[in-house]
Amino acid sequence: MNTDHNLEHVLTSARELLANARYCACLSGAGLSAESGIATFRDADSDGLWDNFNPMELASVEGFTRNPERVMKWYNARRTKLSEVQPNPGHLALAEQKNLLHITQNVDNLCARAGTDPEQLVQLHGTITEDHCLECGAREAIDTDKPKPLRICSQCNSGYMRPSVVWFGEMLPDAAWHRAEATCLALDVLLVVGTSASVYPAAGLIDVARNHGARVIHINPDGEDIPHEDMWLQGKSGDLLPKLLQGLTLSSPEVV
Ligand code: NAD
Ligand code: ZN
Repeated sequence: MNTDHNLEHVLTSARELLANARYCACLSGAGLSAESGIATFRDADSDGLWDNFNPMELASVEGFTRNPERVMKWYNARRTKLSEVQPNPGHLALAEQKNLLHITQNVDNLCARAGTDPEQLVQLHGTITEDHCLECGAREAIDTDKPKPLRICSQCNSGYMRPSVVWFGEMLPDAAWHRAEATCLALDVLLVVGTSASVYPAAGLIDVARNHGARVIHINPDGEDIPHEDMWLQGKSGDLLPKLLQGLTLSSPEVV
């Protein structure tokens, strides 16, 4: 357990590490949005969205095919909820870093709403602000405050439109994965925020960075699985990210 004194000490060391780093990047997960009121998997009970159904029924092509109506209703409830919440100081502190690549597992669009340039954002698991056709892939932007009910694609008149998030058993978008991986090969510091690092392949990016010489700084209230050689800032990202990043200008490598 970190005491306040310890936390101050680790914060100072982490700031020093970042200030001296040539190349940094951030990898975030559901914990970054927790203080905006969006449930993580682990404490999913708080808004009940994960309660009633097996995640496989809500987040897999098989589940969608079995009951597309139910899946769209569930995603549209998440969308409505998202339109009622705001980015928190953690999202805002990251958005101020205009040269930092932010790789996120979140699909909630809160990074973009906080002002992160789309060019600086890699959405490994897709986004809830888009649907695409299960058959032909045609895309359609979705307003989270006006989500569209289950419908057939207007391009091919055959497939159902589904949320553009990566479901269980699906590949990550190629371009997003390659950019994330190429970046992690070339880092001095990887900042890991609010992820349990248990969903692969995203979590593997932390090993890629560490195995290629990067130091890893974690921001998380819970650190039981954090390797000894990494740095751990124990606490909430909405509180710690502004303190960590204030006055620093971080840069990521350009990768092609
Ligand atoms: P996870 O639920 O497995 O882990 C969340 C982590 O955040 C935990 O380690 C927890 O200790 C930490 N945490 C909780 N509150 C925090 C806070 N205030 N500040 C910092 N850390 C905090 O989430 P994951 O690792 O992102 O992986 C789960 C998968 O769920 C991902 O694939 C993601 O796409 C999906 N998901 C996304 C959202 C979203 O878009 N907001 C929400 C739930 C799940
Ligand atoms: Zn179609």
